[in-house]
Amino acid sequence: MTPPIAASPVSLAGRPGWARSLAPSALRILAMLAAAALAGWIGYEATFERALGEIRGSAGHRLDLYAASIEREIEKFAAFPIVVSYDRSIIELAMAPTESERRATADRYLERLNASIGTLAVYILDTTGRCIASSNWNQYDSFVGRDLSYRPYYRNAGIGHIERFYGIGTTNREPGYFLSTALHVGDAVVGTGVVKVGLQQLERSWSSAEAPALLADEHGVVVLSSIPAWKYGTLRPLDPAVRAEIAQAQQYNDRELNPIGMTVRQRLDTDSSIVELSGMGDASQPTPIPGLYLTETRPMPGTPWQLTVFSDLRGAVDQAESAAALAALATLFVSGGALAALQRNRHIKELTRARAALQLAHDSLERTVAERTSALVVANARLQEEVEERSRAERTLREAQSGLVQAGKLAVIGQLSAGMAHELNQPLAALATISGNTIKYLERGDAAAARSNLDRIRPLVERMARLTGELKSFARKSSGEMQAVSIRRTIDNALFLLDHRIKRQSVTLVDEIDGGVTAWCDPNRLEQVMLNLIGNALDATEGQAERRLTLRTGLCGEEVSVEIRDNGPGLPADLLAHLFEPFFTTKAPGAGLGLGLAISAGIVRDFGGDLTATNASDSGASFVMRLPRAKEAAA
Ligand code: ADP
Repeated sequence: MTPPIAASPVSLAGRPGWARSLAPSALRILAMLAAAALAGWIGYEATFERALGEIRGSAGHRLDLYAASIEREIEKFAAFPIVVSYDRSIIELAMAPTESERRATADRYLERLNASIGTLAVYILDTTGRCIASSNWNQYDSFVGRDLSYRPYYRNAGIGHIERFYGIGTTNREPGYFLSTALHVGDAVVGTGVVKVGLQQLERSWSSAEAPALLADEHGVVVLSSIPAWKYGTLRPLDPAVRAEIAQAQQYNDRELNPIGMTVRQRLDTDSSIVELSGMGDASQPTPIPGLYLTETRPMPGTPWQLTVFSDLRGAVDQAESAAALAALATLFVSGGALAALQRNRHIKELTRARAALQLAHDSLERTVAERTSALVVANARLQEEVEERSRAERTLREAQSGLVQAGKLAVIGQLSAGMAHELNQPLAALATISGNTIKYLERGDAAAARSNLDRIRPLVERMARLTGELKSFARKSSGEMQAVSIRRTIDNALFLLDHRIKRQSVTLVDEIDGGVTAWCDPNRLEQVMLNLIGNALDATEGQAERRLTLRTGLCGEEVSVEIRDNGPGLPADLLAHLFEPFFTTKAPGAGLGLGLAISAGIVRDFGGDLTATNASDSGASFVMRLPRAKEAAA
C-alpha cells in the first residue's frame, strides 16, 4: 500500500520549503511598496484635481456674486457727481467761490442730496483743490476750507469722466470710495464735484461669508475684506516708489500696509492660484486657519481693483489624502493577493514536484524492500534448514555421546566382569561345599550342624544378590535426571564393585570422604566416573611395593571437590597433554580403550563442573573433579 505523502518536503535550510517559497523577496516587497506609492500619488492627484475643479466652480460663482454686489454698491452712486455738476447752485458757487450766499445754498443742497442718497459726503472743490462746499459743512470735521489738491480724485477728474479712488478720509479717518468729476461751464473746468461712498454695508455682508474674500487696489492693498485683520494689508510687499506715492496721496493715512502672509504655491492660470496662508500673527483679530487655499481673482470693471475670493483646500487635501491612502492600501492588498497567489502557485508546483519525487523514492524503496524481503525469506528458509540440520546433528551427537557413555560403561562392566566372575565363583563353590556337608549332617541326624551350615549360606547369597544388583543398577541406562547425590554413597557403590580388586591387590584405602557432602548431578553417571578414576588409580599402583589409594572430598563455596589420588608413577608431561583425548591409552591392547577419561571429563562438564589431572606433590597422580553443590540433602 502506498503511504500518504508528507505534506511538505523537508528543506535543507532548516525552514520548510513552502515557507521559503511563500516568503516574498525584499525586491517584491519594494515593488509592491513602489506600486502602492504610485497608486497613492495618482489617487491623490486625481482626487485633488476633481475636488479642485468643483471648488473652482463654486469659487467662480462666489466671485460673480461678490463682484455684482460691489458693482451694484458703487455704480448706484456713479451718476451723482454728474448730477452735482449739472446743478446750477453748484456751478454758480464754483464760478464765485467766495460768495457766502452761494456757498450756503450749495452747502444745504449738498447736505440734502447726501442725506437722500445715503452717501458719506458730497462736496465741491474749487479749481485749486480747496473744498468750497460740503454736505458736512456744519459738522466739526467739515471738509470746507480744506485743501484736497493732493487727492488723485481731484487731479484726475475730467469733464464727463468719473474718477474713482478709494482712500481713508484725512479729516475723519473714515474709509470711503470717492467718485469725482469735473464741474465745467462749456469747456472750462470750474471745480470738482466729489461723492464719498461708504462700503461698510458691503463689508458687513462679507464678514459673514464662509470663505474669505477681498478687494485689493491696483497696488495690492486690501481695501475691503471679509477678514477685518486683512484690511489695509498687502497681497505682496510694496515697492518703495509705490509706498511713496500712496503716502503722498495720503490714501491710507499712516497705515503700515504689511503683507497679509500669503504665498503663491502654484499658479493655475492668470486668475487662479493655490496659495498658502500663514496668518498675520495678530491674535486680537480672527484670521483664516493657516493652510492651502485656492484664490480666484477678477478685475472689477471700470476700476483698477481686483476682487479675490479664497476657498479652503483642507477638504480637498483631506479627500485627496484619503483617496491616496485608499488607493495605496487597495494596491497593497491587490498586489499582496496577487503575490500570495503567485507564491501559492509556485508552492503548489514545488509540492507537486516534491510529491512526484517522493513517490519515485517511495516506489524504488518499496521495490528494494520487496527484493530484500524475498532475499531475506530465502536466507531465512536456508537458516531454518541449517538450524534444523544443526539440531538434527546435535540430536545425533547427543545420541552418539550417550551411546559413547554407555559404551564406556559397558567397557567398565567388561573390565569388572572378570573380577565379578571370580567374586561370584567363590560363594558359589562355598555354597556347593556347604550344601553337600549339610546333606551329610542331615543323613547323620546332626540337625544342629546342618542348621549352622544353612546359617552360613544366607550371607553368601545376600552378597551375591548385592553384587548382581549393583552391577545391574550400574549397567542400567541413565535417565539423565539431575538430583542431589551423596558422594559417600556413590563412592561406596564404586568401591563395592571394585572390592575384589582392592582386596586382591592389597591396596591401602585412605578414605577421607565427608559423609554429608552432596553434589547436583546424575548418580548413575557419577558412579561411572568414580569407577573409571578409581579403576585407573588401581591400575597405576600396580607394581608399587605399597599400593595406596586416597579418596578425599572438599567444599569450596557453591562447589564440591572430590580427589582420587594414587601413589603410582604419576603423569609425565607428554601424557598430560593427551590424557583427555578419546582413544588415548598407554595400556596393552585389550586392557584399555582410551575412552575412560574422555567420557568422564564429558560427563563432569555436563554436570556443570570440570575434571583436572595433576601430579601429586609426593608421587602419583591426582584427579580432582569439581561439581555443583546440591542445595538439598541427598534422597
Ligand atoms: P584406559 O584406561 O582405557 O587407557 P583412560 O582414558 O581411562 O583409558 O586412560 C588413558 C590413559 O591415561 C591411560 O592409558 C594411562 O596411561 C593414563 N592414566 C590414567 N589414569 C592414570 C593414573 N592414575 N596414573 C597414571 N596414568 C594414568
